[in-house]
Amino acid sequence: VNILVAVPVPFLPPLTYRVPDDSPLPLRGARVRVPLGTRTVVGCALGTADDAESPADLRAIIETLDAEAFVPPHVVDLALWVAEYYAAGPGEVLSAAMPPARASARGFRTVEVVALTAQGRDIAAAFESAGGATEPLPRLGKAQREALTALAGVPTGLPVPLLKDRGIPADAIQRLVRRGLASKRRERSERDPFEGSPSRGIEGDPNEPRADVRSLTPDQDAAMRQLKALLDTGSFSVTLLHGVTGSGKTELYLQLASHALAAGRRVLILVPEIALTPAVTSLFRAAFGERIAIQHSGLSDGERHDQWHRIRRGEVDVVVGTRSAVFAPIDRVGLIVVDEEHDGSYKQEETPRYNGRDVAIVRGRQAGALVVLGSATPSLETYHNAERGRYQRVVLTRRILDRPMAATRIVNMRDEYADAGPDVILSRPLVEAMQQRVGLGEQAMLLLNRRGFATAVVCRQCGGTLECPNCSVSLTVHTRAHGASRAQCHYCNYSMSVPKACLDCAAPYLEQTGFGTERVEEEIRRLLPGLRVARVDRDTMQRKGAIQSVLGRFAAGEIDVLVGTQMIAKGHDFPRVTLVGVISADVGLGMADFRAAERTFQLLTQVAGRAGRGGLEGEAIIQTLFPEHYSIRLACRQDYLAFYAEEIKYRRAMRYPPAVGLVNVVIRGRTLADAMTAAADLVARLLARDRAAFRVLGPAPAPLGRLRGEYRAQFFLKGVQRRPMRDALVRALEEMPELRRRVTVDVDPLSVL
Ligand code: ADP
Ligand code: ZN
Repeated sequence: VNILVAVPVPFLPPLTYRVPDDSPLPLRGARVRVPLGTRTVVGCALGTADDAESPADLRAIIETLDAEAFVPPHVVDLALWVAEYYAAGPGEVLSAAMPPARASARGFRTVEVVALTAQGRDIAAAFESAGGATEPLPRLGKAQREALTALAGVPTGLPVPLLKDRGIPADAIQRLVRRGLASKRRERSERDPFEGSPSRGIEGDPNEPRADVRSLTPDQDAAMRQLKALLDTGSFSVTLLHGVTGSGKTELYLQLASHALAAGRRVLILVPEIALTPAVTSLFRAAFGERIAIQHSGLSDGERHDQWHRIRRGEVDVVVGTRSAVFAPIDRVGLIVVDEEHDGSYKQEETPRYNGRDVAIVRGRQAGALVVLGSATPSLETYHNAERGRYQRVVLTRRILDRPMAATRIVNMRDEYADAGPDVILSRPLVEAMQQRVGLGEQAMLLLNRRGFATAVVCRQCGGTLECPNCSVSLTVHTRAHGASRAQCHYCNYSMSVPKACLDCAAPYLEQTGFGTERVEEEIRRLLPGLRVARVDRDTMQRKGAIQSVLGRFAAGEIDVLVGTQMIAKGHDFPRVTLVGVISADVGLGMADFRAAERTFQLLTQVAGRAGRGGLEGEAIIQTLFPEHYSIRLACRQDYLAFYAEEIKYRRAMRYPPAVGLVNVVIRGRTLADAMTAAADLVARLLARDRAAFRVLGPAPAPLGRLRGEYRAQFFLKGVQRRPMRDALVRALEEMPELRRRVTVDVDPLSVL
């Protein structure tokens, strides 16, 4: 008998293997060890293959690891759907659906991985061909040479600790990075958000119903009755729960979940980022006690492994987790909630590039479940579907207890510049409001979606900016605790000390321009020295438990002003926050991205929604250079419907999603010509096929033309149906196997840079 096996290799379709006569037949969902090239890998059995078509010299499986299905068959089905829809290998998707191996149960920390850049690979190759190089080779120390050799064989890179184990010191790696020959990245950079958090131990008695079931407001009650009716049908449907910020959606999720459990069905709840919303998760934990599993990226491998098996054994009724929890091995699912469905974190920005919200809908269809998509600012896709009647719509138009929405004030920064000069960061109305609010014992949150101190270093003589040697971006200046500052790349982590003179023309007139959160923090301290300020962004939150500690201190009133990136815009509920300031509403608008207006609208609406959630009235002050831009104007009015009407017109006119389906294809190369040629080849093959079913735009150099030392060419496919586009791409790539390592296919992309 022959079986199909999904192996974890990019783009590879299921492979056929022979099952030796004396071996048991692996069931669909069982793990098998199989030979692949010169290695052996663990794959997932998908079922028997058609024997007639198989060649005689098929390789045999080595070992069947499970007597039963390991991944539940319905999750295998879901993974295969994802693989097909997103044009990824089924094995890649299935490995996302499996728990990590028990062997690494000691738990991971953030690990730094270092890989060669394109330039580094060239140099390594030149060293290897011993003297055959045409250009003089750089003089590298012995340790750097060793690192180069070690890394040359592993394009995806090696963890820094592993290199250390091999006797390669950290500073040798650092030198390679500085020379632009290698780049560093962090993997699994999120840590256990619950470590040291007081909410961790909250456990209810699993046999007790929730003690503190709240009585719903009339609005909530009306929404609840509609949702229960849909749940009680026991069949698949999707509902958009469109409720303004502070309208009490979380309470509805809780009560609906209890209702599903009472009906003997299980519940899956997806949330954007648990680290940022510990309050929501502790509410769920308090409500469902031991029957709940909370999956977040900070769990150690061992904890993940144990939790996966607990769910798989049926010991869990409610799973709360971030996007990958959509593959949780839970059965009898009757309710799936996707909270803040518009949130960008549902999209995985590496293969398989799925959107957890969309996979949740497919899972709901397979399970016959009610899928609830909750948001105050639904994605265009979701609202479009609701408008066309594909989704039901349940609306909460008012805040709990009729608390008013924050009053919003726009400050035109052009006026501020005219009055106070071009270096103004905090406008006078904002400074006054901070002073006044804090004086009353209230709190403020200030948002700037850009971290660092200065966003560029510019030479006043030649106009050049300090750029990353590996990526086509300018370096951001960060200040360090000891006062020294460094210029750093936000894409590849390259960093250097800020030079005293221009690297191109040697003129000593370097100026730092643009500003990020670090600068805002400094500015508040300078203008309002009495205020207690803290900052929340990726730089300050590196340390384990840092976010819990800062949010805890803010909740306890030990901090007056919280400055941060979009991390502070999400889901928080701080009753004493009465002022929200947006330092620059325009940060996202300049991006060459058709979703720029949508993202700006969502961010502004969400952040303004953080003010006035307690009994006190709130106010939002929005600084902008474009007060007339519709996304800013309408966010200030919190008018989603008007925004949607405007934005959908633009998407239809420009033929962007959701008016059409979009696939983004990026090809990487050592030179731009190399990338462009390969992209043009691929496009030619696509056009030779089904050219009526879709349109191809490009290829052209990607907006981010160079990344981690590689050049990037890009093209788009646009069409009403996704299947012909995907099929054409997959078949074309089958003809060009050498491209597989250099191509990224992104179906329904969120970011097109
Ligand atoms: P949303 O998720 O819609 O922004 P939340 O679920 O955070 O809103 O609710 C806003 C606030 O209202 C929270 O402080 C919550 O505890 C409170 N709340 C929710 N439902 C009720 C209710 N029925 N009675 C009183 N307070 C409620
Ligand atoms: Zn870089």
